Parts: sequence; structure tokens; C-alpha cells
Amino acid sequence: MKRLVICFAILISVSVLWAQPTKKYAMVIHGGAGVMDQKNMTSEMQNEFIAVLNQVLQVGDSVLAHGGTCMDAVEQSIMVMEDSPLFNAGKGAVFTHDGIVELDASVMEGKSLKAGAIAAVRDIKNPIRVARAVMEKSEHVMLSGLGASQFAKEQGFEPVDNSYFYTEKRFQSLQELLKKEREATINDKHGTVGCVALDMFGNIAAGTSTGGMTNKKYGRIGDSPIIGAGTYANNETGGFSCTGHGEYYIRLGFSRDISALMEYKKITITEACQEEIRKLTDMGGTGGVIGLDKKGNIAMEFNTSGMFRGYINSNGEKQVAIFK
Ligand code: ASP
Repeated sequence: MKRLVICFAILISVSVLWAQPTKKYAMVIHGGAGVMDQKNMTSEMQNEFIAVLNQVLQVGDSVLAHGGTCMDAVEQSIMVMEDSPLFNAGKGAVFTHDGIVELDASVMEGKSLKAGAIAAVRDIKNPIRVARAVMEKSEHVMLSGLGASQFAKEQGFEPVDNSYFYTEKRFQSLQELLKKEREATINDKHGTVGCVALDMFGNIAAGTSTGGMTNKKYGRIGDSPIIGAGTYANNETGGFSCTGHGEYYIRLGFSRDISALMEYKKITITEACQEEIRKLTDMGGTGGVIGLDKKGNIAMEFNTSGMFRGYINSNGEKQVAIFK
């Protein structure tokens, strides 16, 4: 009997220890990759971006430092960027060819491999929140258009009018493109936002939110809401969020491929991200990716002249950068 009690006590303490947070956490963010000329971006502009990126890192850090989950950190960090007019997500989203805004977002949880996404929605202020609701409150992974809006309403999200997303800068970008009467239906300006977090419990989550690409037509949907293309998370390898010319990312199965490279080739997260970016370059695509692995190692790789990016971790390390 005594033995049984001792065994039981050991079992309890092992399981308590098992569930104990490690106190180690990390988070990495991006605010889009693209053609960024240091000369053409005023220092005021740079400072504005840096300030929001710092604010995002602070928000995520405070969630993770207080023992919050990686999914909470991802959601709250991305919301800050969705609410800023600076990024191509939420408030600052780019315009479609028809002069409206259509948003895409996705999240994934590395422990359960659960995921949620919405695509081509026109009336949702914070798409990342609804993507999470799809994951947690529906039996589906991806909802689109009017159906996604109906689901959001049923979940208690207040719709916003599409005019909420009007920003002069994005409107002028569309006008310029329309004026140029480009043959291509989409352009190469990026600005999507993304976040990957590792919490104290060793779990990884990733999320991405975007307005897509300026001048997009025909209900075009890019990689950002597609699990395995623009977003992927797996506790065994890492979490990833992409930004760039979505058509290439979809065709490469970009983020899932990075995870597979790590799993099968036993290479580091940076090596895997670099290898995938090489494939992107070889195909003629542009963009970037952020990721972190279960140890909190960070990767931020891109083949454009810049990517708004940053990371923070429990060792007190922090970095924010724009250009190469
Ligand atoms: N990947 C996004 C898309 O293709 C755009 C971006 O990252 O800027 O919709």
C-alpha cells in the first residue's frame, strides 16, 4: 500500500513538473516584404514603422511573459498591425481592381495541428480574430466571402463598412496601377503581416493577415489564408508566416515545405527557410518568411530589398529591422 502511495505521489509530481512552464518564450513578426529603397523611405516613415513594430513586440512579449499562450500572442500582435494604417492588413489593406478591400487571414496551432482561415471578406475589422474563431468554434478550416461574414456575425463580431478600410495611400496606389494599364492583373507590392510565437509551455502558433495584392481581380485569393502555403505551425519543427507574391507560395506549398525540409533533412530552421527562398527565387517569385523552432531559434529570410520584421525572446534579446 505504502509503495502504491509513493508511486502515485511520484506520478503526480512528474505530471505537475511536466506541465510546468519552462519560462522560455520567443516571438517573431513581419509586416511585409517588398521593394524598399532606403533612399525613398524618409526617416520619419521608417520611424513610424519601427515604432509600430516595437509596439507589436511589446504586446506579444507581455502576453508571453505572463504565461499567456502562443495563440493569444499571435492574435494580439497581429491585431496591432491590422489596426495600423501602415500595413497591408485590416485598416491599411490594399484595394482590389474594383476599388474595394477584401481580406484574408489564417492561424495554426503547432500542438494540435488545428487551423482556421478566412478569405475574401469585406466587413471584418480584425480578420485574424475570426480566423481563430473558425479554428476554435467551427468544424471547418477555411470560410470565405459572405459565408465567413455570416459566421463572424453569429460569433458576435460587429461588421464594419468597407469604407472603414479606405486609406488615401492605398487608393492612390490603385489609381497609379490602373493608370499604367498594366498587362498583369496584380503587382508586386507587399505589406502583409504575420507573427509566430513559442510560449512557456513549448507550444508554437503562427498567423498571417493581409489585404492581398493591389489591383487583384476575380475574387483572387493568395497564400496568406492557405494553411501550408502562407501559414504553418507544427511543434515538432516550427511555425512560419510568409509574405510575398502569393501565387508562388501556393505553388511551392511554401511553409509546409520548410517544415518538411526540417523534418526529413534534419536541417536548421534558417537553412530550411533559405533553401525555400532559393526555390522561390528560381521560380521568379519574391517575398520573405519568418519562423521559429521549438527551441526559440528565429529565422527571417527574404529575397527582396527589405522586409519589416522583428523578434523578441525571454533572454531579453530584441531586434527590429526594415532593410537587408
Ligand atoms: N502574400 C500576399 C498575397 O499574395 C501578399 C503579401 O504578402 O504582400 O496575397
